[in-house]
Amino acid sequence: MEIVARRLDGVLPGQRLESAMTPGLNVLKTFDPPLHAIDGGTFTGVGRRGKLLLVELATADGEPLTLLTHLMSAGRLQLFDKRGSMRDRTSRVLLRLPEGRELRLREFGTRQAAWIKLLRPDALAEEASLNTLGPEAWPDPPELAPLLASPRPLHSLLRDQQVLAGIGRTWVDEILHAARLSPFKRGDDLSEAEAEALREAMVAVLGRVIDVYEEHVALPLPEKFPKPTRVHAHQGRPCPRCETALEAVFYEDYVMSYCPQCQTEGRVLKDRRLSRLLK
Ligand SMILES: [Zn+2]
Repeated sequence: MEIVARRLDGVLPGQRLESAMTPGLNVLKTFDPPLHAIDGGTFTGVGRRGKLLLVELATADGEPLTLLTHLMSAGRLQLFDKRGSMRDRTSRVLLRLPEGRELRLREFGTRQAAWIKLLRPDALAEEASLNTLGPEAWPDPPELAPLLASPRPLHSLLRDQQVLAGIGRTWVDEILHAARLSPFKRGDDLSEAEAEALREAMVAVLGRVIDVYEEHVALPLPEKFPKPTRVHAHQGRPCPRCETALEAVFYEDYVMSYCPQCQTEGRVLKDRRLSRLLK
């Protein structure tokens, strides 16, 4: 989301919004102000908080409004030079700009989970999806020991947006590997040195990913982003640090990869999928 916000913030401010439409069913989660309040308005900026995107606009009357956007896992925001076909079934939100250009929120797959909210400043200040977010994991997260002081495993704590905002599953594996910590180590069981190593790994891994995006992601913004992973979903391949074969634990809808040598003192963790089948 960081790179999406940066790219859009580089071109949208000052641009006029001709009209907004929502072909997606129930994609707009607010009704006051109505979506057409931003027709004829002007983009003023694009920012990010956690995995949420904040598209700032001023209405034709100069009223500031924010289009809060959550792409969930299958949504993409792209800025096209031409308008899309109205038959494009992936279209959820269309923001039409002059000269036929269009900022389009598309969502792939059958689940329609992405959403937008159009909020006045007072409603934005009270918006729960923002207010419940933990501090940003990048670029300068606070000291981790107090944040993670909970009996939950690190792999679950780190992707909990209310604990720390902005880390997805993919990067949790990369961060824990970089910090040489077991995904199942409890948050309240971290030594001071481990908590500091984790913080450093978090900043370094997320910084490296953003550097790759900076280099490779350009407008109109891709459908598929590069995934500069070294560990996540690399099970069976050699650990980039010690060359031990990486292992994985499979869950219903994702995989958690780790190095048994660097992270779990040689232990191979139980595969939850397998143990469920054997029950
Ligand atoms: Zn290793």
